[in-house]
Amino acid sequence: MNSRLMALSSKLIFRRSMRMFTTSASRFNKDEGFPDPLDLATGMEKKEMLARLNGNDDPYNLKAIKKGVGSKDKPTEIPSAFEARIVGCVCEEDSSHIKWMWLYSGEPKRCICGHWYKLIHKESFL
Ligand SMILES: [Zn+2]
Repeated sequence: MNSRLMALSSKLIFRRSMRMFTTSASRFNKDEGFPDPLDLATGMEKKEMLARLNGNDDPYNLKAIKKGVGSKDKPTEIPSAFEARIVGCVCEEDSSHIKWMWLYSGEPKRCICGHWYKLIHKESFL
């Protein structure tokens, strides 16, 4: 009974997943090609694409920043468009974990490894 019920339910599930999906290439003319993605993008995606076209390859400041001297007088500067940012410090070169900490504007902070960080204001690309 159970196996018959299972077979019946699997048939129903299979039947439901057999919806047809069709696409048509008639919208795109061979001579014109596909439309430019910049023309199709809107909102944040378009702003990001325009920033990249203007030479800003890291509009969200997500690339890793190499540590500088890191002393109290010359802290590593971390750009941010906000008043605070989470910073991850790889304290030792061979370390397998990252020490995460909040960094606030106007308050340079020392990591447990002794390296200093300072938040600097950077205009948002938006
Ligand atoms: Zn550290």
